[in-house]
Amino acid sequence: MVFEGLAEKLQDTFKKLKNKGKLTEKDVAEAMREVRLALLEADVNFKVVKDFINKVKERAVGIEVLESLTPGQQVIKIVNEELTELMGTSQSKINFSSKPPTIIMLVGLQGAGKTTTTGKLAGMLKKQGKRPLLIACDIYRPAAIKQLQVVGEKVGVPVFTMGDKQSPVDISKAGIDHGMSHGNDVILIDTAGRLHVDEELMDELKDIKNDVKPHEILLVVDSMTGQDAVNVAEHFNEKLGIDGVILTKLDGDTRGGAALSVRAVTNKPIKFTGLGEKLDDLEPFYPDRMASRILG
Ligand code: GDP
Repeated sequence: MVFEGLAEKLQDTFKKLKNKGKLTEKDVAEAMREVRLALLEADVNFKVVKDFINKVKERAVGIEVLESLTPGQQVIKIVNEELTELMGTSQSKINFSSKPPTIIMLVGLQGAGKTTTTGKLAGMLKKQGKRPLLIACDIYRPAAIKQLQVVGEKVGVPVFTMGDKQSPVDISKAGIDHGMSHGNDVILIDTAGRLHVDEELMDELKDIKNDVKPHEILLVVDSMTGQDAVNVAEHFNEKLGIDGVILTKLDGDTRGGAALSVRAVTNKPIKFTGLGEKLDDLEPFYPDRMASRILG
């Protein structure tokens, strides 16, 4: 499970602090050294770690003995609050348009889990009473259209396709028209991915964005790729502009570096996480619950 190693190390560190009646500067410094190492080992971005430790240290300096909490417990509370803030403080939801349909564009690199996640999200929205439509715009990867159709069928959501001979912009526009005349209130566009970020991909995505004017662009990244996922997010955000991130494969990521770094590096929130291959393995991302999971 995610944060396995980090949770174990931090809990060890704080066990030592918890029961101390008084904390010396040396105690705090030693604990912060251990926290710093644990975060780096969890593959958290170097600068993010540095800022995080500085913030905690600053707040820990002024700690006074309270009746309710030992100084050690107060340090833990500070770390918990700062971890929560690092991941975005509160849950970030989808921005639904006041005038339906809400158009959501899903982007990401090949293999990140974009097609599966598009289906998961459509299924989740359907359960919430929405009437989603999926549009298949990945015209390059063999079998991508078919894959989306299979996923759509499984979650009971219609899929609009025009094969692989039309441009993604034309397919998107026709799909939106189709959705509007069929009463769909959320339209999810599954765009093409590439193995690496390249200009051609970005240009295509920008064309769709400019033409379709989506209310929400969600980037799907694979948490198991750690800092690569963070770099991808930074790049997509700079080139295209994104509204949020969906972090997939958190079930297989024991380190959690991407989960802890994406928000701080891109200033864009993680909105959902993928927790398995099944189509209901998608959950909203709760920064406070994640922080508590780390600190036990
Ligand atoms: P795409 O190329 O980005 O469209 O990626 P796919 O949707 O085809 O997914 C690539 C692989 O990742 C598939 O085998 C999916 O089942 C798997 N996958 C997607 N999301 C998750 C997840 O949250 N957890 C796990 N364990 N596997 C996932």
